[in-house]
Amino acid sequence: MLSRKEYDEARVRAAVMIRAAGIRITEEEARRIEVADFGLGRLRFEGAQILTFFGTERVSAKVIALFPDQTMPEHWHPRVGDDPGKEEAIRAIHGVLRFYLPGPDTLARGFVPAGKEGYYTARHERIMMPGDQLTVEPGTKHWFQAGPEGAVLYSFSTCARDILDLFSDPAVVRMTVVAD
Ligand code: ZN
Repeated sequence: MLSRKEYDEARVRAAVMIRAAGIRITEEEARRIEVADFGLGRLRFEGAQILTFFGTERVSAKVIALFPDQTMPEHWHPRVGDDPGKEEAIRAIHGVLRFYLPGPDTLARGFVPAGKEGYYTARHERIMMPGDQLTVEPGTKHWFQAGPEGAVLYSFSTCARDILDLFSDPAVVRMTVVAD
């Protein structure tokens, strides 16, 4: 759970980061940046600020801002009916982005959030600089983390059904609850 103040401050900060990365967004878009704490109540450590530009039944585009060392928890995009699951392309725009996929454990520059060792199983590290990109196949576990200056990245994908994403940490609740 986040307080209204925490939520609003994170949203404003994310809008500043997105604009500083050279991405033009409207005022209306700045207001609807989603602050996701994944129900963990420790936004500074685990969370993400997400602006969905558009999302249809077939395609979606988002920009994500991560605060310094903030971690997007490990998750994967499962099959939904006839859809094999969301295929996602990530493009780093600003700052260092540490990205993790299954494979040989090469985790070195990033870190697993304290006390969460069991919930971050993908440990193959890819250090992404602005202009770097990669794709994540449906059903593949992944998580990512900003470097010390924060990070801004694009996520382009097939149909996004965020509410159906699966997370390794059983404490995750996808919808952010804001206490007014
Ligand atoms: Zn994902």
